[in-house]
Amino acid sequence: MHFSGASTGISPNWGFWAHRRINRLAVFRLPESIQVFYKKHIEFLTENAVNPDRRRYAVMGEAERHFIDLDVYGDSALNILPRYWKNAVEKIGEDSLRKHGIVPWYVQTAAFQLTEAFKEKDPKKILRISADIGHYIADAHVPLHTTRNYNGQLTGQEGIHGFWESRLPELFAQGYDLWIGEAAYIAHVPTQIWETVAASHAATDSVFIFEKQLTEEFDPDKKYSYELRNNILTRTYSKEFSSRYHQMLAGQVQRRMKDAVKMVGDMWYTCWVNAGQPNLDQIEDFSLSLEDKKQQAAEQQSWIRRLFHVRTEGEN
Ligand SMILES: [Zn+2]
Repeated sequence: MHFSGASTGISPNWGFWAHRRINRLAVFRLPESIQVFYKKHIEFLTENAVNPDRRRYAVMGEAERHFIDLDVYGDSALNILPRYWKNAVEKIGEDSLRKHGIVPWYVQTAAFQLTEAFKEKDPKKILRISADIGHYIADAHVPLHTTRNYNGQLTGQEGIHGFWESRLPELFAQGYDLWIGEAAYIAHVPTQIWETVAASHAATDSVFIFEKQLTEEFDPDKKYSYELRNNILTRTYSKEFSSRYHQMLAGQVQRRMKDAVKMVGDMWYTCWVNAGQPNLDQIEDFSLSLEDKKQQAAEQQSWIRRLFHVRTEGEN
């Protein structure tokens, strides 16, 4: 039997559950003219919401698209960092940027690609990039995706990453009200995504402070519990500890998740508008070719292998 610590860092993003949920809910926010197409492919968008995570270990250049370690650039990172990729490369250098994460720039790139896909009326591209950009936008809403202390490893709080983005949504998100209303046009995508990572980063203080506070006053024997997951006995934060922490955060996880749903829907809609509002009824039906399916299966396999590898290595 494998014991998997909560601190293995194997859950680098919103849990798969949250990613799927965010893409799915975003579909229902779209105006009629574009919703028909998205609804038809809602299962694709839901399932492929986690593709970028599956690719993380298989594709060079993928990992850095999911985060930005703002604190690496000091207290005034948000004033120092150029809004646009080109300027950022000139100022900081590409290697350094990639090392510390590029999510606010990559979302802009993906938005450009999605707009192009709409112009080309290429259904496969539209759906693939829509699913991907939904993932990156959701990641940008996670406070722990904006700090180099992303798993509490610098403050003795290892495991906090998966705790916040997987465990808490798993336990409590069923009760969240994530309904927002119809999608709105994003006037300026770069401003929007930078405001998003700024808001995520501003939330990191309470993420760390409350966990520390609670740990200090909590019976250490009751902080964790063991649960059987896929036949693996897994150490996880106990329900009691999770519930208290969730209360202290006072709706933070719900707010970030809700904002993510909003921005994903807004982004799909905005790219469609920017492409000149192409009539999506005219887009031919498409289904995944055998090649597509093979590639997906291969990505999944490599991800599973990697996951297992990390788990066994991470045992203490
Ligand atoms: Zn991710």
